[in-house]
Amino acid sequence: MNNENKILIKNTTIINEGKLVVADVLIANEIILQIGNIDNESNYKLIDGTGKHLFPGIIDGQVHFRDPGLTHKGDLYTESKAAIAGGVTSFIDMPNTIPTILNVESLNQKYKIASQKSLANYSFFLGVNGENIDDVIKMDTRQFIGVSDDGLYFSKKGNLLADSPEKMEKLFANCQSIIAIHSEKEEVIEANEKAYKKKYGEAIPAKFHPLIRSAEGCYEASKRAIEIAKKHKARFHVLHLTTEAETHLFQNDIPLQEKKITTEVSVHHLWFSDKDYDQLGMLIKWNPAIKTEKDRKGLFKALLDDRIDLITTDHAPHTLEEKQQTYFKSMSGAPMVQHSLNCMLEFYKQGLISLEKIVEKMCHNPAILYNMTKRGFIKEGYYADLTLVDLHSPWTVNKENLLYKCGWSPLEGTSFQTEVKQTFVNGNLVYDNGKFNENKLGKPIEFTNN
Ligand SMILES: [Zn+2]
Repeated sequence: MNNENKILIKNTTIINEGKLVVADVLIANEIILQIGNIDNESNYKLIDGTGKHLFPGIIDGQVHFRDPGLTHKGDLYTESKAAIAGGVTSFIDMPNTIPTILNVESLNQKYKIASQKSLANYSFFLGVNGENIDDVIKMDTRQFIGVSDDGLYFSKKGNLLADSPEKMEKLFANCQSIIAIHSEKEEVIEANEKAYKKKYGEAIPAKFHPLIRSAEGCYEASKRAIEIAKKHKARFHVLHLTTEAETHLFQNDIPLQEKKITTEVSVHHLWFSDKDYDQLGMLIKWNPAIKTEKDRKGLFKALLDDRIDLITTDHAPHTLEEKQQTYFKSMSGAPMVQHSLNCMLEFYKQGLISLEKIVEKMCHNPAILYNMTKRGFIKEGYYADLTLVDLHSPWTVNKENLLYKCGWSPLEGTSFQTEVKQTFVNGNLVYDNGKFNENKLGKPIEFTNN
């Protein structure tokens, strides 16, 4: 390789492992070759990082890119592109596509589709539900980055693992990979649905969503699931935590590497609260629901004190038409992946979180938690997944700058003070000041489950 193919990022503020350091970064092939004081005597392609901050590429541990089968909402090309514009270089996608990813054959098919069109690095959960649990526990589950029931409950009631202690017992006793589950209790939700339907019919206002998919339903499900996981010493991850009460079920007195029970918060549960339903209505209908301001603050506190390990987006695009329906018909979920870093950096601007902590929760910890190989850090020898951010570049979200296939966002009209300028995926400058270079695609994320 001649030096013209090497890239030198000069004079940038690197955020990595709890420190901010001004240095140069030399990228060669796919990797970070050198970090330090590097002269550009060798005709490298030069990127001036002066005044900008270099983040490890964001790793989003939970997205729904809708491919295959639901590609009118989004697909692995469009949504990975939006992700990269937001500084996200790797993602793990959920199994509720069509077909649902309940066996190795459909999982491999999804990897194949991604290899043909994802601009970012990718990995996929194997789906697990009542139908395939006996097959799953017979497999060598270490071959999967994780197994999950997330989203599978939409197609059929009774598919929530957290709702079925017998199924959890079986899975937790036999699964050797990370088990990531959606934790809500169906019978609590059903009773609430009935009561609100009686009062409002089909036209239940969106603001009652957190009272129907209630804090109680979340807490009871999480508490029981954690008890069963502990009994079997399973490696258990609770997806998208939404209540202050649940944060007390998690510990922060041991490092993430030693934790058996982990959890995450999705960025919308830090950004929105129940005071936003009147203005945004069904657009912010998510499962589990956006809850109270007290819950939002409690989640933030648990994130800062390390009871919560990760920040994800649960990026879940639907068309505007699918969202703007009456309560029971309106689909739950919304697109977020393009703005997760911007949202967190707004909190930084407000003095609520440090840049180092954002990097820990969005870059380092997803790589550690999912045992990824050579990603999530700015280190020599690691993949050059990097994002260069201007912390003083205000802009406003609008339909013209959204890259989602669904063409809308609950953040339209929101102004951010920070902007992603460049994103590198495996050393390729894929996103450069609004323009994409699509010559090279992302790679499957390597991981080790021992
Ligand atoms: Zn999800």
